[in-house]
Amino acid sequence: MVFHALLIKYAEIAIKGKNRYLFEDALVSRIKSALKNVEGKFQVEKESGRIYVHCPEEYDYDETIAALTKVFGIVEICPVMIFEDNGIERMGEDVLSYMRQVHPEYCGTFKIFTRRAKKSFPLTSMEVSAEIGGKILDAMPGASVDVHHPELLLHIEIRDRIYVYSLSVRGPGGMPVGTGGRAMLLLSGGIDSPVAGYLMAKRGVVLDAVYFHAPPYTSERAKQKVIDLAKIVAEYSGPIRLHVVNFTDIQLYIYEKCPHDELTIIMRRYMMRIAEHFAGKCRSLGLVTGESIGQVASQTMRSLAATNDVCTIPVYRPVIAFDKQEIVEIARKIGTFDTSVLPYEDCCTIFVAKHPVTQPQIKTMRASEKRLSEKIDELMTTALETTEVIEIGE
Ligand code: ATP
Ligand code: MG
Repeated sequence: MVFHALLIKYAEIAIKGKNRYLFEDALVSRIKSALKNVEGKFQVEKESGRIYVHCPEEYDYDETIAALTKVFGIVEICPVMIFEDNGIERMGEDVLSYMRQVHPEYCGTFKIFTRRAKKSFPLTSMEVSAEIGGKILDAMPGASVDVHHPELLLHIEIRDRIYVYSLSVRGPGGMPVGTGGRAMLLLSGGIDSPVAGYLMAKRGVVLDAVYFHAPPYTSERAKQKVIDLAKIVAEYSGPIRLHVVNFTDIQLYIYEKCPHDELTIIMRRYMMRIAEHFAGKCRSLGLVTGESIGQVASQTMRSLAATNDVCTIPVYRPVIAFDKQEIVEIARKIGTFDTSVLPYEDCCTIFVAKHPVTQPQIKTMRASEKRLSEKIDELMTTALETTEVIEIGE
C-alpha cells in the first residue's frame, strides 16, 4: 500500500494573522528536520492553508509516521493517494482502486465528503459525492451510505490533482518547537525532569539543559544516563545544548560548612544560580524543573519558595500538580521511563540528610549561606569554567 502524500492537520485555531505564518513555517521546518533521519525523499509544502508531505519515491511508511508523531503542532496525519484529474469517470475508478487497497471488501457505512478547490471542475461537490458514492455501492455490495454517523468518512479533494484520504493517525498536538521561546531545563537522571522538558517543548519551547554531576560520587554511567535521556527528549524538542557542571566541590563545601538538614535546599539554591548563569548565556527566558508539590522534603511549598528565592528569571514547573503516577504515564509514553529507572546514583541522594528540613525559612537559608563566603565565589567560578558542553541531537 503506497500513499503519495501525508496531509498534516494542525489546530490551535486561535492562531491568526502573522502568527499563523510563523506557526506554519516553524511546523514545516520541524517536519523537515524530523524527516531528515528517515530514508526516502520528501517534499514538505504549504498549500493554501494546509501542509503536505509529498513522498514521490519509495519510503518506509511506518518509520515516516513514527517520526511525524513526534512533531509538536501536528494534530492529525492523513495518508493520501493522489490521482491525475481525468474527469469523473476516471475518478470513480481511481477511488475504487483506493478503496480496494485501503479498505478491501469494505462492508460498513460510509460517507463521501468532497471539496472542490478547483472551481473549473464541471461537477459540484455534491454531484461528485453522489456519483462516486454510487460507484462504491455498485462495486462493494456490503457497503452502505450513512450521511449522519458514517463509520468511514472518505475525503475527495479536487485540486490540480485528485486527493483521496480516509485514514488518520493522531499527532502529539501542542505548538511547533521554536514558536514558544527558549528555556533551560534542569535535567537529572530521574523520572520527572525529562517529562517536564517534554511538556515545555510541547508548548513550542526550545530547550537547553544543565546537569549537575558529582564525580566520583556519581559515576560516568550516571552521566551517560542523563545524556541518553536528553537524546530521547531531543527526538521531540530538537537539538539540546547540555551543560554538564562539575558540582562536587560545591557540594562538599556546603556539606562542610552548613547544617546538614539544610543541605538539600542550599545545594538546590546553588543549582538554580548556576542554571540561571547558563540560561543567560543561551538567551533562555526561564528555568524548567521536574518539581512536584510534596513529592519529597525539598518540594514542599516552603522549600520551593526557599529555592526560588535565588532566581531572577521565571521558573517553570510543568509537573507541579501531577501525581507521580501521572508523570510515570507520560514518561512511559514518551520513552524516557526505562532509562530514568536505571539504578545509578544521583548527586542529590548522596549528601542527603536523614531528616532534611521540610519548612525552611528563606532568612535562615540566606544566613546559612553566609558561612560559605570564604570560598564559594571561587568554587562557583571554577564550576562555571569547567562545565562541559555536549550538543545533543545535532
Ligand atoms: P527527577 O525525577 O526529575 O530527578 P526528583 O523527584 O528526583 O526529580 P529532586 O531530586 O528533588 O526531585 O529534584 C527536583 C528537580 O531538580 C528535578 O526535577 C530537576 O529538575 C532538578 N535536579 C535535581 N537534581 C539535579 C541534577 N543532578 N542535575 C540537574 N537538575 C537536577
Ligand atoms: Mg532526582
